[in-house]
Amino acid sequence: MRDLEVFASIQKEEQRQKYNIELIASENFCSDEVREAVGSCLTNKYAEGYPGKRYYGGCENVEVVENLARDRVCRLFHAEHANVQPHCGSAANMAVYRTVLKPGDRILGMSLDAGGHLTHGYKLSFSGSDYESFTYGVNKETEMIDYGEVERLALEIRPKIIVAGASAYARFIDYKRFREIADKVDAILMVDMAHVAGLIAAGLHPDPVEYADFVTSTTHKTLRGPRGGLVLCKEKYAKDLDRNVFPGMQGGPLCHVIAGKAVCFYEALQPEFIEYQKQVVNNARVLAEALKEEGFRIVSGGTDNHMVLVDVKHSFGITGKQLESALDEVNITVNKNSIPFDEEKPAYTSGIRVGTPAMTTRGFREDEFRKVAHWIAQAAGNIENDAIKDRIRKEVRELMEKY
Ligand SMILES: *Cc1c(COP(=O)(O)O)cnc(C)c1O
Repeated sequence: MRDLEVFASIQKEEQRQKYNIELIASENFCSDEVREAVGSCLTNKYAEGYPGKRYYGGCENVEVVENLARDRVCRLFHAEHANVQPHCGSAANMAVYRTVLKPGDRILGMSLDAGGHLTHGYKLSFSGSDYESFTYGVNKETEMIDYGEVERLALEIRPKIIVAGASAYARFIDYKRFREIADKVDAILMVDMAHVAGLIAAGLHPDPVEYADFVTSTTHKTLRGPRGGLVLCKEKYAKDLDRNVFPGMQGGPLCHVIAGKAVCFYEALQPEFIEYQKQVVNNARVLAEALKEEGFRIVSGGTDNHMVLVDVKHSFGITGKQLESALDEVNITVNKNSIPFDEEKPAYTSGIRVGTPAMTTRGFREDEFRKVAHWIAQAAGNIENDAIKDRIRKEVRELMEKY
């Protein structure tokens, strides 16, 4: 007997993914081989513990897989130690905090409105309730991180850990400078590279591994693997970190997902991966330029990575939420996003965040992204015009038939 309800929705989702233009900067399409690994019989296996030290019998095959994942990711990022068991990026961050902080210790991370992640100290996240959290933002003029300001805050707050990394920030991050600031106040430096991990692996973004005590990541964004998390660290923290992941906060590892991660790291070690990431970055630059030409204000004036933050309020007089809905109607998927110093509430926002990783995987190049910029502007300028939205929807469908 087949569960028709669930499989009907999966089928519909497959169609949606096939025919929509996916611009959510944190999403991607992983390979069939990654999906094969994640959908494999490894999901049936319990393997609490780590390679060489398991609490169950029959682990000889998943043993090989986890070792492959660990070795490959260490090679990919030139890291001393890796833990590939965290179930997601948030769990990876929690594992690091639990390794080096006590409840109530001070965290200094990027604020959510400036582009940071929930787990960097947001009040409603464990990171803001279990620890005393403080945030830095961006400079009001440049809309980029003001390292002088970060240093001033660090000297004032004396945090136990400083977190660098973001979910909605389109510029390079100076990890060396963060290290210098951390050293001045004797803080641990954690870099959360969830969004830019693929770019870093390809050498297209500054590399945090040599500077940070811990580097955390997701595996499903630019890295293009299965949904999951990981932590890299210096050898001196390895044992403590591992203990804090298991048994500290997780039980059995997701062996099937670890297999997907191993395949992902294998793919990321191939020369084609660098070509893919170069195209991601090129496409983002073209998208930013084209959006500017179409009349949008771009936060910080441009992009160094795979995403573009677009100020729609101060160019088209609409909210991010309005544009997100209008684009949904024409089968272009984006997310509304606060911009620095946003006057709109988070449920509305003044901006949208768009990214190129997913559609670059599908084969979009510069010309397609220029078309996308044009459609976004058409939708923004004609938010109530159904005839124009119908036309865009048709054009989107026609293009997607080819990809
Ligand atoms: C996406 C993201 C995460 C969290 O990942 P989840 O897998 O959704 O828990 C953490 N940090 C940053 C910077 C992110 O962008």
